[in-house]
Amino acid sequence: MATGPNDNSNYALAKLREYIQAPNLAKDGRLPTERAFAETFDVGRRAVRRALEVLESEGLIWRRQGAGTFVGEKPDDWSAQVTELVAGTDIMEIMEVRLRIEPQLAQLAAMRAKPAEVERMRALVQKTGESTDADAKELWDGSLHRQIAQSAGNKLFLSIFDVVNRIRQDDAWQSIRELARRSGTNGRASFEQHMAIVDAIADRDPARAGEAMRQHLLMHQERLIRATSLGFQEEKAAEDSAAKSVDEADNPLTPAS
Ligand SMILES: [Zn+2]
Repeated sequence: MATGPNDNSNYALAKLREYIQAPNLAKDGRLPTERAFAETFDVGRRAVRRALEVLESEGLIWRRQGAGTFVGEKPDDWSAQVTELVAGTDIMEIMEVRLRIEPQLAQLAAMRAKPAEVERMRALVQKTGESTDADAKELWDGSLHRQIAQSAGNKLFLSIFDVVNRIRQDDAWQSIRELARRSGTNGRASFEQHMAIVDAIADRDPARAGEAMRQHLLMHQERLIRATSLGFQEEKAAEDSAAKSVDEADNPLTPAS
């Protein structure tokens, strides 16, 4: 009876219910587009759209503007926003933020850290120093920096710190860790800087603690800049030599440089 695509929304809904229960969904739970469903089920897009609205109102799927439709419960706004922040942030932005937050947190920690917290910091400095692989180092280093943030005794500040730290945990950071590894991490300098920060906190010297943290992060930032530009130079060199051989072939008068 239907001449065009089947425009029965109930049919589309039944098909979609089956689809979202199937075990072979995309890993992130993302659903195909309306158009793809319309083609697969041979129904109109309007029927698919209505069926999706029903599933959304039942809380079985959720949508994010510009990203698509996903199976499951909608994550709360905060984690959705953090996810978006993670996707749009690069390492230099993160270092800029860390450089402006963490010295202040170290100052506050120097005023407020309890003796037991200082002991924990010392243990974490040791753990970081003893770690032999980059992954473990990163893990213990993150833990030390978080202990300092926590000892600052300001929940709002700690939340801001956690957002930045959350970004550090993202998969995208694997490549950055790899970069840092290639740039040759200076374990000894890092260890001594961590000691200096914790000593200043133990001595209840906010100015010194803040400055020690600033120096530590500056070294980190500089190393990352160097690593990034080294990566750049390698690529650039490869491009240049490719371009040069073309130039030379095209123009025998190109001076050798
Ligand atoms: Zn550190």
